Amino acid sequence: MSRFPVEDIRNFSIIAHVDHGKSTLADRLLELTGTIDKTTKNKQVLDKLQVERERGITVKAQTASLFYSFGGKQYLLNLIDTPGIQAQTVANFFLAFEAQLSVIPVINKIDLKNADPERVGKQIEKVFDIPSDECIKISAKFGTNVDSVLQAVIERIPPPKVHRENPLKALVFDSTFDQYRGVIANIALFDGMVSKGDKIVSAHSKKTYEVNEVGILNPNEQPTHKLYAGQVGFLIAGMKDVTEAQIGDTLYLHNHPVEPLPGFKSAKPMVFAGVYPIDQSEYNNLKSAIEKLTLNDSSVTVHRDCSLALGAGWRLGFLGLLHMEVFNQRLEQEYNASVILTTPTVPYKAVLSSAKLIKEYKEKEITIINPAQFPDKSKVTEYLEPVVLGTVIAPTEYTGKIMALCQARRAIQKNMTFIDENRVMLKYLFPLNEIVVDFYDSLKSLSSGYASFDYEDAGYQTAELIKMDILLNGNIVEELVTVVHREKAYTVGKSICERLKDSLPRQLFEIAIQAAVGSKVIARETVKAYRKNVLAKCYGGDITRKMKLLKRQAEGKKKLRKIGNIEIPKDAFIKVLKTQPNK
Ligand code: GDP
Ligand code: MG
Repeated sequence: MSRFPVEDIRNFSIIAHVDHGKSTLADRLLELTGTIDKTTKNKQVLDKLQVERERGITVKAQTASLFYSFGGKQYLLNLIDTPGIQAQTVANFFLAFEAQLSVIPVINKIDLKNADPERVGKQIEKVFDIPSDECIKISAKFGTNVDSVLQAVIERIPPPKVHRENPLKALVFDSTFDQYRGVIANIALFDGMVSKGDKIVSAHSKKTYEVNEVGILNPNEQPTHKLYAGQVGFLIAGMKDVTEAQIGDTLYLHNHPVEPLPGFKSAKPMVFAGVYPIDQSEYNNLKSAIEKLTLNDSSVTVHRDCSLALGAGWRLGFLGLLHMEVFNQRLEQEYNASVILTTPTVPYKAVLSSAKLIKEYKEKEITIINPAQFPDKSKVTEYLEPVVLGTVIAPTEYTGKIMALCQARRAIQKNMTFIDENRVMLKYLFPLNEIVVDFYDSLKSLSSGYASFDYEDAGYQTAELIKMDILLNGNIVEELVTVVHREKAYTVGKSICERLKDSLPRQLFEIAIQAAVGSKVIARETVKAYRKNVLAKCYGGDITRKMKLLKRQAEGKKKLRKIGNIEIPKDAFIKVLKTQPNK
């Protein structure tokens, strides 16, 4: 690796929306540089997980070191294929711009029949202020013009700013867990060098390790024994838990401490959902599956939780809805776990006014991830809800419909730009909970699939939140308590009542299902009485047979949850709490 001085190294990543061809472009770059064989039918080579291959989404960032000869010189190009589980392309562009990183605009899929790269170039100029003649027009699928991308990487991106003569300073930017070898940390060296056998220290934990193996990803691990500043690769050092190789941590040589790198702003979970085993006897298996999966996906937060209806489980935090779906699919596919996933919620906050509560929480501002902990209005100064800045880009003919949809989601328009004669870019401030479940699907369907959506975290805003109870014949069903915005209370309440009505079996008496805010009922449904007469067949006098039937009926009832005198099968809760399929 010493053959590659800093001037001959370039580090780059491909950033684009889901499905725009990042992984396909990575395949072509791997082929072009001879990293993988060209003859094989390469399809998203860097996507290794089953879920990645099936859904075509990159879940883990993948790295590859490419060797490329250009102008009589051999370069080392380190590629990072980025995950697509957060749609934040526009936001990422501005971050890169602020950090003064070089941006190379690439227009992909020019082979498509209706592709119009000229027009897209003009849009890029309008939105990002990059001259349209800087755009490289390619077809990742057919490899057209892909070599220009590599040449641009060499010509337009400066070599990394690092110092080899300084002591080691390495950034951990990802980590995976291998059953046999422990943690494999992906590292980028900012200063110095690291060799097999070195003693290194984690700036975060101050723990010392001995380096067992270091090397490059090509794209599989290839030991090189040494890595130098400016290079990117992997490191194995007897770490047993991915929390020991925290993303953003700095590694340095034992006895040569360095100022740690600023690291990363840790990704904040934006969507929370309850996860429960379908059967409580599966609890331990599910626990171990969640533990293993989160070892490789440290952006998922885990809290133990307990629901009266669903038993012991967890409340997990995800970066977004797609992230949640992917996690659930991995649980099912990689660990064969069947789970109940409850409707996702967002982290609300409350600023407390009650001295007693402040003392109890040791904080004035608390985050509420479970509706059951929602503090009463009399004990708070204000409630807050998370908001995001959303960007919708769509053909102009859908503008009216999109504006109506955004308005119905309590969004506030911030900006509207026509990026050319037939495309509009709308910016809205959305309450996160309004887009968390089905916004994207609604947007796609009203725009015949043409609108794109991107959002970034925009902090919190004051919100009129209320706690809504669901009652059965006047008794509160604790597992269905929901936090809603005042404006949405009726719609949400009505929908829960309707779903409950459809899933509650009829009983011997009439059941009133009500949604209520405080003592005010805002929605109501009724389940008519039905008499299931188990004795109907036993006219005549066999008393022991009658007793047997009654006993069996009583046993069946034990499995049900009883609220007042109403029996609710677990299934009914699942139907109400589960994420509603919206396709
Ligand atoms: P990613 O989500 O950005 O990583 O996108 P992928 O690389 O997984 O590609 C998404 C889809 O677009 C796949 O079906 C690819 O085959 C297809 N695709 C990628 N590049 C091109 C291209 O240049 N032309 C065409 N026609 N399809 C492409
Ligand atoms: Mg991909």
